[in-house]
Amino acid sequence: MDALLAQLPPRTTVVTVNRRLARNLQRAHDARRRSELGDRAWESLDILPWNAWLSRLWEGLMGVDAHSAVVLDPVQEQAVWEQVIGAGLAALPGGALLQVPQAARLAAEAWRLLHGWRIPLAGHDFLNDDGRAFSDWAGHYQALCAHEGWVDAARLPDLLAQRLEQAPWLLPRRLLLAGFDELTPQQRAFVDHLGRLGTEQIEAGAAEAPGQCVRHAFTDAEAEVEACAAWVRARLERQPEARIGVVVPDLAGQRTRIARCFDDALRPGALLPGAGGDPRPFNLSLGAPLLDQPLVNAALGVLELLRRPVPLERVGQLLRSPYLGEPDELPARALLDARLREDGELTVTLRGLLALAGAVDGEGLPRPWSCPGLAGLLARAREASRRENPPRTAGGWAEHFSRLLDLAGWPGKRTLDSAEYQVLGAWRNLLERFAAVELVERQLGPGAAMTRLRRLAAESAFQPEGDTAPVQVLGVLESGGARFDALWVLGLHDEAWPAPVRPNPFLPYSLQRRLGLPHASAERELAYAARTLDRLRASAPEIVLSSPRLDGDRDLRPSPLIAALPETQFPDLATPRLVAHIRGAARLEPMAEPVGPPLEGSRAPGGARLLQLQAACPFRAFAELRLGATPLGEPQPGLDPLERGSLLHRLLQALWERLGDSEGFAAVARDGGLAALLDAVVDAVLAELERERPQTVTASFRALERKRLLRLLGEWLEVERGRPPFTVAGVERERQVVFGGLELRLRMDRIDRLADGRLAVIDYKSGRTRVAGWFGERPDEPQLPLYAVTAAAPVAALAFAQVRPGECGFLGLSDGAELLPGVEAVDAGRVAGLTGGEWNAMIARWRTVLERLAAEFRAGDARVAPKHYPVTCAWCPLPALCRVHSVAPPPEAENGVSGEAGDE
Ligand code: SF4
Repeated sequence: MDALLAQLPPRTTVVTVNRRLARNLQRAHDARRRSELGDRAWESLDILPWNAWLSRLWEGLMGVDAHSAVVLDPVQEQAVWEQVIGAGLAALPGGALLQVPQAARLAAEAWRLLHGWRIPLAGHDFLNDDGRAFSDWAGHYQALCAHEGWVDAARLPDLLAQRLEQAPWLLPRRLLLAGFDELTPQQRAFVDHLGRLGTEQIEAGAAEAPGQCVRHAFTDAEAEVEACAAWVRARLERQPEARIGVVVPDLAGQRTRIARCFDDALRPGALLPGAGGDPRPFNLSLGAPLLDQPLVNAALGVLELLRRPVPLERVGQLLRSPYLGEPDELPARALLDARLREDGELTVTLRGLLALAGAVDGEGLPRPWSCPGLAGLLARAREASRRENPPRTAGGWAEHFSRLLDLAGWPGKRTLDSAEYQVLGAWRNLLERFAAVELVERQLGPGAAMTRLRRLAAESAFQPEGDTAPVQVLGVLESGGARFDALWVLGLHDEAWPAPVRPNPFLPYSLQRRLGLPHASAERELAYAARTLDRLRASAPEIVLSSPRLDGDRDLRPSPLIAALPETQFPDLATPRLVAHIRGAARLEPMAEPVGPPLEGSRAPGGARLLQLQAACPFRAFAELRLGATPLGEPQPGLDPLERGSLLHRLLQALWERLGDSEGFAAVARDGGLAALLDAVVDAVLAELERERPQTVTASFRALERKRLLRLLGEWLEVERGRPPFTVAGVERERQVVFGGLELRLRMDRIDRLADGRLAVIDYKSGRTRVAGWFGERPDEPQLPLYAVTAAAPVAALAFAQVRPGECGFLGLSDGAELLPGVEAVDAGRVAGLTGGEWNAMIARWRTVLERLAAEFRAGDARVAPKHYPVTCAWCPLPALCRVHSVAPPPEAENGVSGEAGDE
């Protein structure tokens, strides 16, 4: 082709199968002329892709023919099909179930096939419902276009053929078609028609002879792509100026893998700091969706947040995005993200976000997560959004969205790098294409505008500049007309090449097969694949064809079109990969740091939980309470078990604050007022929860939870009803104590005064629990023992109040019989290590154990020593920090006295 272009006579128009080939041929032509003519001027080549050529001819006719219609671009065409199909479905029962955008895409494809293969709409039997629906839609589409003066690319050759006779000056003197594997009957007829009007068609010249070809097979697609990347690298090292092609039939499916393997092989240093901006030496012809570019994703995220609640994860992305507001606020925004997760809601409203972002403490000082800069920007954008929300044209929406993004501080204050700049350009281009929809869709509501813009971003591939990269990775269609010094075609297995049959569902199958439409039959696909493979084999002197043997555990065979070639062993080109080097160089060097700095002063966070964590694993206590290493919240639908437990606590608190004591309880029950009291308490607590969690507490959630809580309370009160007289001395009461040199804040669920004046300390549990957790050198549940050893007044009973459906009851120990139902007096036979004066001996034993744990914490004990590895670690969020699984400790048995108490 290069040689042919060099000798083209003047006034020749070169029409290419795609835009890429036009660019490449133009570039090659300019380079050659520059080398021949130096800095003298030369006539540029008239070269453009097929559709652009037809549009140019059509625009040329505008001045001649006053009735020339406007040519719709693909986005406008899709919008018109959606309108027609949407209107048709609105009249059908159940029609709303159809995916209109998807149906519109297939209808537009069917429309192109009808015209490309010159199939009249009338006169065919559209046998099934889909076909009949399409026939109907196509009639409306045609009528609408005629009425509005629109025309689409599918009809342009026929319309041009009717009119070009009147404008012979628009015709090219000579025409060269480049890169077409086949012409549709419509294209053939159009070119022939131009020939009759005087355009001379220049033959593209005989195909090159097939190159030297080898075939390899690999274990799977991963091994195949890795080998291809190693071959490309070796080939470039041998001949740095070589033009290398890699053609992939399933490029969309392999894109991510190819990018990863080629980055590894061709620019291994890209993962090092500061190397990220280096251009890739390869160009992937299929870009990733524009929507996946972080800059565009942030823009759409802001616009969505201005309209409605958005998922928490999405808000987190926005808060951490550098494309919004001031970079100085990013640390506070990360804290705001963490703070939002504590609320437990799955979605976030802009209102809620602004309230938190501007939060101040009791003295009017900003909270650590306050970000007034971001809050100010979003508030300004919200005001503008509220003022300007009526339906408007797509162009009006494009302007509106740009203004809102400006107000919201997008795309941020930092200077964009070259890649980000290209994305920004692609976003602006996207807005222009979106705005052009106003030609065919006069007004859009805010929801429809956002949906269309988002869909357009998802469907638009972002392709960074890279046509000049020495390695071109292409799909089969883009490779038309391209020529290389070496070419690898990969993924040629029997399920991909020939491509699977995929007829259009809106056209009669028999007709598609008979006329040989693309993807209509196995025979057609086989013939097309054979022709294309011949073309590819003639496009370079050196060819590699390859296929994988497995897809997961499914066997694959080489395509029948390459199976006859003898398979050859792929040479070992393995290049040492930087990642493997780095990993290989890693040496695990255990460094025991069992002790951190001692605690300064005596103030300690965590209350009784401090001793619980210290007993379970000293490192966990150190990491969580000294270093603040706590995991981010992970909201889930509804309430999690902790939240349910907390709801129960609030309920029992509210109930006993009203009842006061066993006498008050008995009196309300006697007067028949208990049910009303329970209703009132449950409603009040649920109303409070609704204020905190408005999105979780829906009407149906509230009704279900109300029923559940009333039943549970009823069951629990049956247990309380059987108790000897008592007075509730405190609920959810906090106490500050100094214990073991630590100032601890303790909070007890409930303290009852018994008939003899001593106390019963009660801990509510909504899960199953065991008294055994109070004992041993490393107690699992030290809260009640800690209360007992620090109590200012005599304690006679300690108990878990297990409030669970079907399992309500007290579990505990007491200093005397029948103080609480089901709670037994301490028995030396059941609690090991006690010798006389059991209750006091037990408390003295606890004091020793708990003081030792407190002393360990104070001293900075940070041993990675889970109580029972791996059980203790199963629910711990810190294994990545402590690396216990890298250096798994031997299971550590409890040492010392192992007091065990049975509670069953
Ligand atoms: S994962 Fe295990 S060893 Fe690590 S901190 Fe948690 S409990 Fe300790």
